[in-house]
Parts: sequence; C-alpha cells; structure tokens
Amino acid sequence: MPAHFPLRLIGSRMLAPTARHLVFERDDGEPLDFIPGQFVQVHFHYADGTAAKRSYSLATIHDHALGAGETVEIAVSYVTGGRATALFENLQEGDRIEASGPYGRFCLMPGDANARYLLIGTGTGVTPYRAMLPELARLIAERNIEVVLLFGARTPQELLYGEDFYAFAAAHPRFRFVPCFSRELPPDPHADVRRGYVQDALAEFAPNAETDIAYLCGNPNMVDAAFEVLKSRGLPVPHVRREKYVSNK
Ligand SMILES: Cc1cc2nc3c(=O)[nH]c(=O)nc-3n(C[C@H](O)[C@H](O)[C@H](O)COP(=O)(O)OP(=O)(O)OC[C@H]3O[C@@H](n4cnc5c(N)ncnc54)[C@H](O)[C@@H]3O)c2cc1C
Repeated sequence: MPAHFPLRLIGSRMLAPTARHLVFERDDGEPLDFIPGQFVQVHFHYADGTAAKRSYSLATIHDHALGAGETVEIAVSYVTGGRATALFENLQEGDRIEASGPYGRFCLMPGDANARYLLIGTGTGVTPYRAMLPELARLIAERNIEVVLLFGARTPQELLYGEDFYAFAAAHPRFRFVPCFSRELPPDPHADVRRGYVQDALAEFAPNAETDIAYLCGNPNMVDAAFEVLKSRGLPVPHVRREKYVSNK
C-alpha cells in the first residue's frame, strides 16, 4: 500500500558528472518496505505553485528477506532545464522532501522458473538491478540461475554503480556484467566490455524463449528497440518486463 512520507537527506555522492546518488531517511521514523525494482514518487511545486511529481527507482541494497530497510536511496540523472533536477542539484544534507510509494511491478516474480535473466538498462535504468542484487544472489544459490546484466552508457565515467556490479560478478560467477559504451571505451577494457548499444549487444547472448526472462529499464528508445529484438527471438511478451523512464510533467 503506497504511503506519503517526508524524506530527509542524510548523504550523497556523485556517481557520474551528471548523476547523483542520494541517501534519505524517512523523517517519520518508519522504514520503507518495498520490493526491489519498485520506485518512489517525489512531490514538489513549480515556481508558480503548481503541484508536480517525478518517479525514481529505489537503489537501496537491503536483504528484504530480513525485513524493511532503514534508508531510501535513489540515483538522479540531471536533465538540462529539468524542474526536479534543480531540486536535487540544490538539495543539501538535512533538507527534507515529500515522497510517496512504493509503486510499480518491475520486480522479480516468485513464480518464475526460468534458467536465465537478461537484465538490460541504460543510465539510471540500472538502479532497480542494484536493489535486486541480494535477491539475485539467493536465486543463484537456490535455483542455479544465470544472470546477464547489459548496461548501456555513453562513456566509462557514466558507468553508474559499476563497482557494485563488478564486485557482485566477482563473487557470483553465474552473474555476468557487460557494460556497453556507445561513445568511448575505458583505456584497458575488461573482457566483458562491448562497444555500441545494449540492444545491439543482445544477439551475442542468444536470447532464448525456453530459458530467458528479460527486464528492460531506462531510455524509452532503448526499451522499444530491445523489446523488438527479444520479440523477434520468440520471447513471449510477459517474459519481457519493461520500465520506461518517461517524463511525467
Ligand atoms: C517509473 C519511472 C522511474 C524513473 N526512475 C528514474 C530514476 O531512477 N532516475 C532518474 O534520473 N530518472 C528516473 N525517471 C525519470 C524522472 O522521473 C524524471 O522524468 C527526470 O528526473 C526528469 O525530471 P525533471 O523534472 O528534472 O525534468 P523535466 O522538467 O520533466 O524536463 C525538462 C526537459 O528535459 C526533457 N527530459 C525529461 N526527462 C528526460 C530524460 N530522462 N532524458 C533527456 N531529456 C529528458 C523534457 O522533455 C524537458 O524538455 C523515472 C521515470 C519513471 C516513469
């Protein structure tokens, strides 16, 4: 059941030149119980007083089997001229914002019997996959699933949460982290780095209707393009789960 609550900023760091990781606590003292993959909405007002809201996927890594988490973490990618962007650029530790949630069904499903997850995201669209890491660890241990995370970014500086995904891949050999850079490669690229768009790198992983469930998150053009690739490979529509980061002005 979504709730309305105040959030107080307790920490932040830049993930990339124009993306900020923000760590909040609920200022009403309650935990936020959510399923990895869900998002919150942030409520604010334009200069003329009009009420507005924007959605942000929850980035928090908590072992949800052990209960609700203490912090509410999101990653905000700055958009030129963006109204919520201005709010997040200026937010200082101790400041409060209004939020509601959790919302959404872009989550791993308990009934899934697939052998492999193809997780595909661009930019802050990898945030839900960060939150899913403890659940993926459990699924790898319990069902021996394979996971391929294809991350689309323009440059190595925009590889958000790269250290978390590389550390998880090192600890879980059945998890492959495949960054795809469209503009610039790192100087000494890891063997799993690819040049180009995620939707073009997909073919190499031979998407298979018998074994795979795919998740697509972030840039709407990427979501549509990857959806077409997966459909052409025979994946049924319910096995291609999508979250488009559209602007809701
Ligand atoms: C379910 C869901 C989850 C989302 N999760 C996240 C998240 O985790 N992190 C995140 O950063 N964003 C996320 N978004 C997008 C976010 O809600 C806002 O749309 C985004 O932050 C821009 O808001 P703004 O008020 O700064 O820009 P606006 O004032 O809405 O827009 C300013 C200008 O920028 C353009 N614009 C808007 N969004 C984009 C964009 N993404 N890229 C390029 N141009 C754009 C607009 O068309 C407009 O011209 C999500 C959206 C949805 C629907």
